[in-house]
Amino acid sequence: MKIKADHVNAPQWKEVTVKSKLPEQLKCLDELAHNMWWAWNYEARDLWRSLDEELYEEVGHNPVLLLEQLSYERKEEIVKDKALMKRVKDVYALFHKYMNVKPDSKRPSVAYFCMEFGINQVLKIYSGGLGMLAGDYMKEASDSNVNMCGVGFLYRYGYFKQSLSMDGQQIANYDAQNFNSLPIVRQLDENGEPLVIDVPYMNYNVHAYVWRVNVGRVPLYLLDTDNELNSEFDRPITHSLYGGDWENRLKQEILLGMGGILLLKKLGIKKDIYHCNEGHAALCNLQRLCDYVKEGLTFNQAMELVRASSLYTVHTPVPAGHDYFDEALFGKYMGGYPQQLGITWDEFIGMGRNNPDDHSERFCMSVFACNTCQEVNGVSKLHGWVSQKMFNNIWNGYYPEENHVGYVTNGVHFPTWAATEWRKLYAQYFDETFMSDQSNEKIWQNIYNVPDDVIWDTRMALKKKLTDYIRSKFRETWLKNQGDPSRVVSLLEKINPNALMIGFCRRFATYKRAHLLFTDLDRLSKIVNDPEHPVQFLFSGKAHPADGAGQGLIKKIYEISQRPEFLGKIIFLEDYDMRLARRLVSGVDIWMNTPTRPLEASGTSGEKAEMNGVVNLSVLDGWWLEGYREGAGWALTEKRTYKNQGYQDQLDAATIYGLLENEIIPLYYNKGEKNYSEGWIKVIKNSIAQIAPHYTMKRQLDDYYDKFYCKEAERFHKLESNNYSLAKEIAQWKETVAERWDSINVVSKETDIPSTGMVTGETYKVRYVIDEQGLNDAVGLEVVVVKTNKNGEEYVVNKHPFNIIGKDGNNYIFEATIEADEAGSFKTGVRMYPKNENLPHRQDFCYVKWLG
Ligand SMILES: *Cc1c(COP(=O)(O)O)cnc(C)c1O
Repeated sequence: MKIKADHVNAPQWKEVTVKSKLPEQLKCLDELAHNMWWAWNYEARDLWRSLDEELYEEVGHNPVLLLEQLSYERKEEIVKDKALMKRVKDVYALFHKYMNVKPDSKRPSVAYFCMEFGINQVLKIYSGGLGMLAGDYMKEASDSNVNMCGVGFLYRYGYFKQSLSMDGQQIANYDAQNFNSLPIVRQLDENGEPLVIDVPYMNYNVHAYVWRVNVGRVPLYLLDTDNELNSEFDRPITHSLYGGDWENRLKQEILLGMGGILLLKKLGIKKDIYHCNEGHAALCNLQRLCDYVKEGLTFNQAMELVRASSLYTVHTPVPAGHDYFDEALFGKYMGGYPQQLGITWDEFIGMGRNNPDDHSERFCMSVFACNTCQEVNGVSKLHGWVSQKMFNNIWNGYYPEENHVGYVTNGVHFPTWAATEWRKLYAQYFDETFMSDQSNEKIWQNIYNVPDDVIWDTRMALKKKLTDYIRSKFRETWLKNQGDPSRVVSLLEKINPNALMIGFCRRFATYKRAHLLFTDLDRLSKIVNDPEHPVQFLFSGKAHPADGAGQGLIKKIYEISQRPEFLGKIIFLEDYDMRLARRLVSGVDIWMNTPTRPLEASGTSGEKAEMNGVVNLSVLDGWWLEGYREGAGWALTEKRTYKNQGYQDQLDAATIYGLLENEIIPLYYNKGEKNYSEGWIKVIKNSIAQIAPHYTMKRQLDDYYDKFYCKEAERFHKLESNNYSLAKEIAQWKETVAERWDSINVVSKETDIPSTGMVTGETYKVRYVIDEQGLNDAVGLEVVVVKTNKNGEEYVVNKHPFNIIGKDGNNYIFEATIEADEAGSFKTGVRMYPKNENLPHRQDFCYVKWLG
């Protein structure tokens, strides 16, 4: 026998956590640290800082780590410090007062599913805007005291940390999170053991642990598969956000949707509404369908209940942005479900296709979401319209403007994003009811009562804070990565809070056009190098690791920023995260955004800026199309001049340069005798008074209740009561109508519209006799009048309903009166549709027959 070079088995390590012991008097801090309430209450954050300022910085503002690493001596000191102990008591009392408010049971309850949640930078389970929105939503749900819970993932690696190489190449670093040092709590089962959710995948189960983030009064449950119960193939399901291949993505979406419902069931949680925030979570409806079918309902009955209680929010304005799965891959994991549901495979996969019978179409999660959710919404008015068009293929028979896709414009959580300085100022000048009445423009009008110099001092304090933050945060990184130390020092010195500071910070996707500013470098150089009127641009943001073009943009901007004429004038700040974002949205003077319309579904960072007296300069896209007011910021017109994107970019760039040179810079520096420009303060006040009140998360949450949740919950309870009797009745009715649909026919038709056409001011009659095939008043008829716009697109100008004026056996007599009130060239058609007052909208049962 040959002796091996070595023969050693693997070490049998066991993970051991040693918690540091807190003195009795400080025990309450542990509870405080494990509720994210501190993330939006500066009294709490100030307290953490006071415990040990240096350590607090070192641990990246993570209070759990802070408490873990507090030295014995420091703990002794704290306990002896009477003033500090009083603050501990006061903050804890404040927290308890908040937590002890009785939950509001009047509004419907909601389970909110999302792939990412941006609660605070210490919890790396977000990448960008979508996560920020979901995190802000949880916080507002807590503040508004509604019955809501979130469902998402606890990622081992989360999204990457960004650094730049010497030549501006983005480097993605994935740091593993140590879950024991995060402000989260492991969810235990009734025996005090870690709760495990078994999620079926093909012929086996994936086992997920559950962690709870206490977001004030609202629980956010996070699934975690990176554990010893799973094979090496399944542990990575929750490793990283938007990483891995399509198979991993599908496995993630199964876990989020189906695993999420299984988790809620195991915890005994049943909500009125299931809200899919983006299509990733849509499989929650599949699990719910299965559950109803298991209860003994038919597939169609189950579908009535699932649809009635779910809402899908789309955030993507282009079809390419949705998730599509090949039939083979989809079948591998989902093959068993049709049988469980009592339908065929083709019927099953058809729920994810625009044309269910088209076998070449991949399964689209967003189409599945549209087909299984009663309501669908975009995230701004313009994006609502874009979504109506984007999804219209699902509901053939209706024009985009007729379908039910609505919108709720995104907002931001005020206490998270308004800097402490502004919060204190608002508290001083606004009504006491402000926090519970944030959408009330009257309250915000009080900003006009604040003296100009107070506004300016607040702005300057925050500009200085940003400057200091950049100097302290980037000094070391830049010295390490950017070579020449004297250059780095000179750059840091050039950051000047007295300059007009303009921020452009967001994900680096090409449609956001970060390159626009660099179209004419000579002109840009003149702008930033005017010694009397200095201007500085701060750029920050990550590009997705698979997005080469986005990374190219970062590299280009970085290269330009290193040229002598731009050094310290154009600055790229690495690793945009929530903390840097908080400094930037409150620390610059202007927040710039230049997307290609209409690709910015909403955008939210500009809304954060509004609350901090930072003024927007942006393309009229997303939220800004609604938000912009004259005298309260600057807008690049929405009119598209060129089809060619290159020309359009040049024109837009010229517009930006012109605005800066002729309006913005002169206004900012028009200081006269004072050390600030009164004109500038006016713009700040206008934007706070007129724009900010409409873009809080409170307004967004209220909109979701008013437009969707309340209406849906009311209908759902009607469907559900009496052992689902109404759901069963509707399913039965739809089945009968569907069966006879093709045989419902026109018996006769009469009209007095002359073949030469109509004349304005005249009225005409159209009469149809329809054989409803024994159905009792089950269809409606309408005349649809359509026009073509100059882009060649058809749109509905008018609809004339038919009235039933008689009945003869199975035959119903329909009559419509048409008045031609506008001259021109139109198309008219008569549309027949199923009619039932128990349906929420036409697309709910999208059978349409155009009559001859
Ligand atoms: C607000 C925010 C975003 C979203 O910004 P948009 O303008 O919507 O692109 C992304 N990342 C971070 C860290 C943010 O705070």
